[in-house]
Amino acid sequence: MYDIIFVTGELYFDHPLCGTAVLKRLLEKKGYKVGVIESPKTEVDIKKLGAPRLFFGISAGSIDSMVRNYTPLKKKRELDKNLNYDEFVPDRATIVYSNWIRKNFKDSTIVLGGTEASLRRFTHYDYWENRLRRPILFDSRAHILVYGSAEKQVIEIADKLKNHKSIDRIDGTCITHKEVPEDLVAVELPSFKEVSDSKEKFCDMQNKLSNHRNLIQKIDNRYLIQYRAPGYTPEDLDEYYSLDFSRKLPKKMSGFEFSILTHRGCIGGCNFCAVKLMQGDRIVSRSEESILTEIKKITKMKHFKGNIDDLGGASANMYGIDCNNCGGNCIDCDKLDRSNKRLIALLRKSRKIPGVKKIIVRSGVRYDIASPEYIKEMAQHHILDTLRIAPEHVNKDVLRLMNKNKGDLRGFIKEFKKTGRKLSFYYMTAHPGSSMKEARELAEAISKLKNAETVQVFTPTPMTVSTCMYYTGMDPKTKKKVYVPYSYREKKEQKRLLNKDESGLKEINRKGYQKRTVKFVKPKK
Ligand code: SF4
Repeated sequence: MYDIIFVTGELYFDHPLCGTAVLKRLLEKKGYKVGVIESPKTEVDIKKLGAPRLFFGISAGSIDSMVRNYTPLKKKRELDKNLNYDEFVPDRATIVYSNWIRKNFKDSTIVLGGTEASLRRFTHYDYWENRLRRPILFDSRAHILVYGSAEKQVIEIADKLKNHKSIDRIDGTCITHKEVPEDLVAVELPSFKEVSDSKEKFCDMQNKLSNHRNLIQKIDNRYLIQYRAPGYTPEDLDEYYSLDFSRKLPKKMSGFEFSILTHRGCIGGCNFCAVKLMQGDRIVSRSEESILTEIKKITKMKHFKGNIDDLGGASANMYGIDCNNCGGNCIDCDKLDRSNKRLIALLRKSRKIPGVKKIIVRSGVRYDIASPEYIKEMAQHHILDTLRIAPEHVNKDVLRLMNKNKGDLRGFIKEFKKTGRKLSFYYMTAHPGSSMKEARELAEAISKLKNAETVQVFTPTPMTVSTCMYYTGMDPKTKKKVYVPYSYREKKEQKRLLNKDESGLKEINRKGYQKRTVKFVKPKK
């Protein structure tokens, strides 16, 4: 009998980049017996390992099942013929798996985790149904939800269940309650009813969302309680990434076997992204020694040919800029260390390890925190074909609404040109604030650039600031009206504009699938 059974929408592989593998290895190190059910297709699959002694851990995977299954224009994705494996994930996988378990294992405890659950933990706008949905704990009727990084919480839940203790009050989790515990210090969000009745209230809720606080939200006659996220430390990450992974990838997957994660978190604060509500808006960097040890271990692996596939995180050049001096907005802070000196030192030492031919950096780079020395280092040693950066747009108002109006792009391009290497660019169209006028401006700029790599159509994913703008038609910070391209016709036109000059621009979303088209409706007044 297993103590814990993980049910994951994605394929499972014993590798540090597989979240379920990190949890499994860590729990096994603590003496627990862990089973995994990967990509279950039917209810029958969910029964194959029997009932766990402590709990089922459910995750739809690293991306929301609706983002996985539908294009930004809401067209069902066909399975990518290039990927010779079928990773079938049902729509709203977290709820489906939870219902399958409740039906077959009535007494089992269900723990939710992963991106889908984490970013649907409060009342949220669901783009695919074009309506507000209650927190996912209510729709899944699971017992507890672990949001963001999960290692500490999962260990604590296992230990408490093993000792027949309550799993309430665990930092980094959400739970439902009839009443708010009297001694709980928490910030109250507008209730489900309030945000359903008022878009201003929805904006107020958005402005209060944070991992750093206990939050409560009234949903009908119960309360959703979020306990603030536990502080993860460099020592924690060193422990997790030094676990003895086989790094074996399923034959069907390749290309990142020797990829290494150097840090968690992102200080970028882009409004269309929710990393800050997942990994957090503070950088936690592994120790240099722990990363170098991992590389040395890899060089001893039978099938290592000398290339490290990637060395990075959400943004490659945020390694080593850890700062927790205050609760401010790091990307705008003049105290932020933008020298990249710890990262440059790490890259130089990594290259010197015997057996290493090349350290490739594939993760995107933030050009507004890239020092000239770092740029030179990257261009000389760590770029495979091009250096990828994500300016996303060129119009200053759209960039402000994206919270991407940082740094000096022209200055960066000028500096980078000196290296003689190529840049490639990520762009986004149809984001709130982007009308046909702004889309033409972007198309104009891209046509001059000639090496824009990808453009994606904005997708309103749960819990991001940009999704709040999409749903409310307002900038939540100022409550000022924002233009939002709702109609299918306009989104399609904005996209077509960017392709018109055949600049070799591929329209893909960052998952790598090719373009599609369908029908649209504006959220009700
Ligand atoms: S001092 Fe600046 S860089 Fe440090 S935590 Fe505060 S805002 Fe971030």
